[in-house]
Formats: sequence, C-alpha cells, structure tokens
Amino acid sequence: MPLRPTSTLPTWLPEIECLFPGRCGTSASLREHHANSLTLLAAQPPDAVVFPETTAEVQELVRLAARHRLPLIAFGSGTSLEGHVNAPRGGIAVDFSRMNRVLAVRAQDLDCTVEPGVTLKQLAAELKPTGLFFPVDPGAEHATLGGMAATRASGTTTVRYGSMRDNVVSVTAVMASGDVVTTARRARKSAAGYDLTRLLVGSEGTLGLITALTLKLYGVPESASAAVAAFGTVGAACETATLAIQMGLGVARLELLDAEQIRCVNGQSGLQLAELPTLFVEFHGTFASCAADLTAFGEVAAATGGIDIKTAADEDGRRQIWRARHDAFWAVRTAWPGCQFVVTDVAVPLSALAAVVTETEADIQEFGLTAPIVGHVGDGNFHCIVAIDPADATARARIDTFLERLVQRALDNDGTATGEHGIGQGKARFLAAEHGCGVEVMRAVKTALDPLGILNPGKIFA
Ligand SMILES: Cc1cc2nc3c(=O)[nH]c(=O)nc-3n(C[C@H](O)[C@H](O)[C@H](O)COP(=O)(O)OP(=O)(O)OC[C@H]3O[C@@H](n4cnc5c(N)ncnc54)[C@H](O)[C@@H]3O)c2cc1C
Repeated sequence: MPLRPTSTLPTWLPEIECLFPGRCGTSASLREHHANSLTLLAAQPPDAVVFPETTAEVQELVRLAARHRLPLIAFGSGTSLEGHVNAPRGGIAVDFSRMNRVLAVRAQDLDCTVEPGVTLKQLAAELKPTGLFFPVDPGAEHATLGGMAATRASGTTTVRYGSMRDNVVSVTAVMASGDVVTTARRARKSAAGYDLTRLLVGSEGTLGLITALTLKLYGVPESASAAVAAFGTVGAACETATLAIQMGLGVARLELLDAEQIRCVNGQSGLQLAELPTLFVEFHGTFASCAADLTAFGEVAAATGGIDIKTAADEDGRRQIWRARHDAFWAVRTAWPGCQFVVTDVAVPLSALAAVVTETEADIQEFGLTAPIVGHVGDGNFHCIVAIDPADATARARIDTFLERLVQRALDNDGTATGEHGIGQGKARFLAAEHGCGVEVMRAVKTALDPLGILNPGKIFA
C-alpha cells in the first residue's frame, strides 16, 4: 500500500502532539538536524521529530503511524554515513536521546542492559568504576548503542572482540505490528528457534524500533601496549597486518593510515610521524604477553619492510596514538576546508587485502582524487575519505566511477560492499550484486514484518 503523502500532515500532527506533549517538534532547524548531513546525499528532512521516553510510547507511536501510513525513521545520533536517517518519503524521526538510561550492569554475568539512546561515551563513563568495558569502538563516540546495533557497527577493536553482531545478546524492539519482542534471554548461548537478535542487528531501523539492548561486557585487561610502524608502501603495511593476525598475536587493534592520512593526523594531533603508510597496533593481555607480542610484531614489521617502528612509551603515548586515529576523519576535514566528503568502506578477506588496497591507491591517482585511506586492516576492512572540491565540476562523476570500481573490486575478491557503515541509501545499488537472489529473501522478510512499509522506507533496497 502506498505511503500517505506528506500533504496530509495536519491530520496526524495533533494526535502525535497529544501523544508526545512538549516532545514533538516541526521547526525547520530540528527537522534539518535529523536528516543526513555527513555525506554527499541530499538531506531529506522528516516532517516532524518526536522524543519518546518509554517502550509503551514507541508502541503507541507505531500503531498511530500504521493507521496513518506514516514513515518512522529511528534516530540515534545521526552519525551514520550512507543516508540512513534521511526521510525520502517524509514521516517522523523517532529520536531516542531521551531513552538514555543504563538499566543494569551485571558484573558476574559480564553483561549490561541499556536503552537505545545511551551513547558509547556515556556507557564507557558509567562502566569505568566497574573494571569492565564494552569493546565495540566506531570512530564516533557519540554514536548510540541503538544506532550501532541497527547498523551492525564495528570499529578498531573488532579484530579482537567482534562487532555489534557478536556483542549484542538480545534486543527489545517494537515491531511494525506494534508488538514488543525481546529476541533472546541472557544465556550466552541458545539453540531455541530462529536468531531474531541477528535479524534485527544490522536491520537499519527497517524491521523494528529497538527500545532496549543487552550487551556483552569484558574485564579491562591487565596490560595494554601499542606501537606504530611505518612502511614504504601500503602493500607492505597490509602484508604485515595479515602476518600479525595469522601468527595469532594478541592484537586488539590494528589500523592502517596511508601517507596522506598521516599528514592530516600530524597536522591535527601534534604527532610527528613519518609521512608514510603506517600501522597503529595495540595488544591486550598480561604484562608478559603484551611485551612478547610487541617484540614479535617488531620482528615481523622489520622483516616485511618496516622503516620506522616505535613503541608507545607509556599510557599517555598510547592514548595519544588512538586519539589521533579516532580523529582521523576530522583531521581530513580540517586539512581541506571548504571541501565536502564521502566516507566509504569495503572489506575483503585478509589474503586479498594488500592487493585491493594497492589497486585502490592506484585508482585514487588515476582519477586525480584526494582520498586518504584509513582502515581496520586486521579485519580486512578499510575506508577512503574522498574530498570533493565544490569548484571542481567533474569531481562527482569521477568519484562515482571510483566508488563503483572500489565496490566491484571488493566483490570480485569475495568481499563486501560495506564492512561496517551499512547500506542505507548510498549502497543500496550494490546489494543485488553482493547477495544475488538473497535480496529477494530479505525483501520477503521485510514485507512479512512490515507489510505497510512504515519502518525507514527507502533504505537497504534499491
Ligand atoms: C567520524 C566517524 C567515524 C565513524 N567510524 C565508524 C566505525 O569505525 N565503524 C562503524 O561501524 N561506523 C562508523 N561510523 C558510522 C556511525 O558512527 C555508525 O553507523 C553508528 O553505528 C551510527 O550510530 P548513530 O547513533 O549515530 O545512529 P544513526 O545515524 O542515528 O542511525 C543509524 C541507523 O540506525 C537506525 N537506528 C537508530 N536508532 C535505532 C533504534 N533505536 N532502533 C532501530 N533503528 C535505529 C536509524 O534508523 C538508521 O538507519 C563513523 C561515523 C563518523 C562520523
């Protein structure tokens, strides 16, 4: 059934205002804030924004939206990068920032339950006194746990601890029918029926609105050590990363920054790293295992062409390295003021990584682009942050061709169009090439669970 046009806005607005007294806004600035702003995709603001505080309110909202055929676009912090929170058919942005309580921390079970609007930074602060931590670490510390689950996010520590797919024990979600479903109990394993947790994790707000999540926690390791190693080529850096993983070193983070990215990082952070392709690595374990891993990594890096291998002298040095890594995107934006940016990611099997990154670097040269490469190479995942000078009339066409080639190369190497950012609007055109008739199975799931198509329409499927 087609969605109702936004010209009918007045008929539903009073009902929404009644449901969310003082928590429903329609100002242009509020609506703009809730549309995609971090990509080249045109912003498509919703008609209204609401701020629920309970699962029951979300349930009421879903029932109301179904009656009026209104799109609902869940909104965490809006840091997603593929137009996920755009509202191409209008509708209501459901901003979860008021559902931001850590509901329980169970140290004995190594888990916690949170509302979806809890941010990564907030959870880290609340867990600090417990000696526990939640490991999934995308570059955006203001990302919410609801948004991270919905995009199946990962980050620098995924090589050791896994992504949201591995670290969400269960979610509670309001389905398009208005039913509230909790996808699993807290047992660490279960063979009871279909895995609804994994279905909802990565569903980008298209199958249900997540109102609570139970997450795995980990004990802070006894020791952590870090090193930085520069190489003559990105290929040599990737080969070193692959070897470190294959040797089973206690790698907790393993990141590549190409020479361009290092230049930006130096400018922003005050670090004075050699402007060469560089690996940032961190080990977690005991004091003895971290020291042994550092030594082994140094030996591998030296044998594979490492030019400048430095160990972070102390805790401050280690933090400085990772702060610089986390700020990589902002460092690029600072280095090219006035430019717009596309941040894209692909992932490939480790054995293909060095060749794929090297060929991508050659493409960047061939297309005359500015596109620093940075990546979670321990997972075979890397990003290009492509700068676009608005004054360059041919840039868009060249970038589109570059992005097509990047994804095609990943797929040709048995990789994926996106390792972590998700499909949203920006990558919908690649889904069929990656999944073939699997896309029809996905569509059937979507139609069965959301027959009116009210949950985040226009995403995932082209
Ligand atoms: C500088 C920078 C670095 C980044 N680095 C990484 C990285 O390393 N790894 C990575 O994975 N991502 C990264 N990202 C992308 C982004 O941070 C992630 O996609 C993040 O998971 C989005 O969280 P959010 O709260 O901002 O979600 P939003 O952008 O608000 O929403 C994302 C999607 O989730 C849906 N959603 C949000 N909340 C809910 C809910 N409660 N129920 C159902 N659906 C919901 C939305 O509808 C939307 O489809 C980065 C982004 C930036 C800006």
